[in-house]
Amino acid sequence: KKVLVKVDNLVKYFPIRAGVFKRIVAWVRAVDDISFEIYEGETVGLVGESGCGKTTAGMTLLRLYEPTSGRIIVDGKDTTYYFMPRYRAKKYLKKMYIEKFKKEDPSKFTGIDKEYYELYEELGESGFYSKLLDNITEKRRDFRRTMQIVFQDPYSSLNPRIRVKTIVSEGPVLHGLIKKSEVVDKVKEVLEEVGIHGEHMYRFPHQFSGGQRQRIGIARALLMNPKLIVADEAVAALDVSIRSQVINLMLELQKKHNLTYLFISHDLSVIKYISDRVVVMYLGKIVENASKKELFDNPLHPYTKALMSAIPVPNPEYKKKRIILTGDVPSPVNPPSGCRFHPRCPVAKEICAKEEPQLKEVSPGHFVACHFPGSLK
Ligand code: SF4
Repeated sequence: KKVLVKVDNLVKYFPIRAGVFKRIVAWVRAVDDISFEIYEGETVGLVGESGCGKTTAGMTLLRLYEPTSGRIIVDGKDTTYYFMPRYRAKKYLKKMYIEKFKKEDPSKFTGIDKEYYELYEELGESGFYSKLLDNITEKRRDFRRTMQIVFQDPYSSLNPRIRVKTIVSEGPVLHGLIKKSEVVDKVKEVLEEVGIHGEHMYRFPHQFSGGQRQRIGIARALLMNPKLIVADEAVAALDVSIRSQVINLMLELQKKHNLTYLFISHDLSVIKYISDRVVVMYLGKIVENASKKELFDNPLHPYTKALMSAIPVPNPEYKKKRIILTGDVPSPVNPPSGCRFHPRCPVAKEICAKEEPQLKEVSPGHFVACHFPGSLK
């Protein structure tokens, strides 16, 4: 399978400012060094409590926030510098590639490093910069087109003053994907695809229900011909019955158009239904990453286990052991030392407060960041 998106040591901190001069007094470490991959055509579920950094991770990946550090590689291209001013982009490329190329042994380079090294060998340093920095506006536009988002709140994510026809077609027309003369046909087609009457394109968003609005949001993303759709709590605001309809629609569209989803949710039962692979976050870090089957059959991180024990079971006679976590989620401004989960972990030992566990592959494709994986029974 082809890797579509590779998130490499991504960090996003937000400054807290105070005083008359608005000096930075602290940092919110919302996303703190996370790495994961999304393969083409799959759905990755990103799950965790509110405040764990999952939405920030999604927004940074889409470049709605500028990353503090790290790399976002899309389709084999480093896109991290796309939205930086030219001088900063050049600085980034110098630090990330040129300095490395001059220092390290080229035979050890793999993936994008290898590819960019070959480019550097062929074109020289200045040629390398111009190759990567030229046509940056086009690159940005292409990025914005291929990386789409469906927001949580269908009530506020659609402009109430604009008719659905314009909402859905605005982006594609701007990007030259459809001609003005084709708008009516294309909008009709895409609306019918998401289960809305084509004739309703002349209505305003308030004339639709929450579920229908979310379908319009999906249609808007779909008409951009995207590679990746980030769905940020896309069904959280909907009624339970409507929720499953929207999820099923997303799955159908995925099959038809070979779409790739990053599905962000706090709800493990939704994640279980839609995902192929699941990434669990806690306080800005990834604590577990595995295929859905592996994660739900054999959760190894105590936090994942606790989250799972909270999923309601349909049969009340079947008594499941609940793991109740004590204490609140600590602040991302001053995260606990060592393992960030240690103040709440039922099986924490001395080392947990001192040494930060790294994300390690414990069985093929199953990654856990814990000193004692699987110890919570
Ligand atoms: Fe618990 Fe220690 Fe594992 Fe952290 S490293 S989850 S504190 S056992």
